[in-house]
Amino acid sequence: MTRMLTDLPQPAALAALTEDSIVVQPVGALEQHGPHLPLNTDLVIPEQIGALAVDRAVSDGVDAWLLPAIAASKSDEHHWAPGTVWLEASTIWNMLVDIGRSVAATPARTLVFLNGHGGNSALLQVVNREIRRRFGLRTFSMGTGTQRAGGGADGGPDEFGMGIHAGHSETSVMLALRPDLVDMSGAVRSVPEHIAQFETIGFNGHPVSFGWTSDDFGPGGVIGDPTAATSEYGDELVNAGTAFVAKALTEISRFRHAS
Ligand SMILES: [Zn+2]
Repeated sequence: MTRMLTDLPQPAALAALTEDSIVVQPVGALEQHGPHLPLNTDLVIPEQIGALAVDRAVSDGVDAWLLPAIAASKSDEHHWAPGTVWLEASTIWNMLVDIGRSVAATPARTLVFLNGHGGNSALLQVVNREIRRRFGLRTFSMGTGTQRAGGGADGGPDEFGMGIHAGHSETSVMLALRPDLVDMSGAVRSVPEHIAQFETIGFNGHPVSFGWTSDDFGPGGVIGDPTAATSEYGDELVNAGTAFVAKALTEISRFRHAS
């Protein structure tokens, strides 16, 4: 049976949802991913991991449902690259709040944002609370669990912990999911090694963040080293991401704010 909620007629969708239902909203992005990956990389990944993970969670007894992925989101760090389709923070904020309002009108009481683009993470954490406060939904946000920062220890190239955009892990995942869209002849290493000397300042996981745009680190817009990417490693990451998201949905199904 389909778990895409919008495949159902409205009365059937309403009848399918209960207070235990979890509605999963994948959030994609349309943005430059260097010369070797498609603009829709951050849309393909949460769409496919979402479908796989929801199916697995359902087989584990979780009443999870998918909404169609949001394609464009807050990709302003790639604004310099035409082809990127990006929304102002206020635009995506209003869209997500409106989706929360719509889900809250159904019997479902839980909304999960499955995020395919790191540039949305901070905004999603804030919107979680907004939707909770205004509409009473339990709200969660998570990534797809497929992104690795690349320290060289996993057998891949050393990306100095900064393989965050079109690098080894993301390129490998796309070789696993959509090899027809990948052109490895365009893959070029671009790692901002000068940033590795800073202990406090850096990308996700560092205590001090900075307002970067993706052309700060080289003209190609890649932040990482895609040159050694393989579909085998991509399969590993897809399996790990699917297991992570399915496990998270299982925990979310049991989670309550108060005992
Ligand atoms: Zn990406």
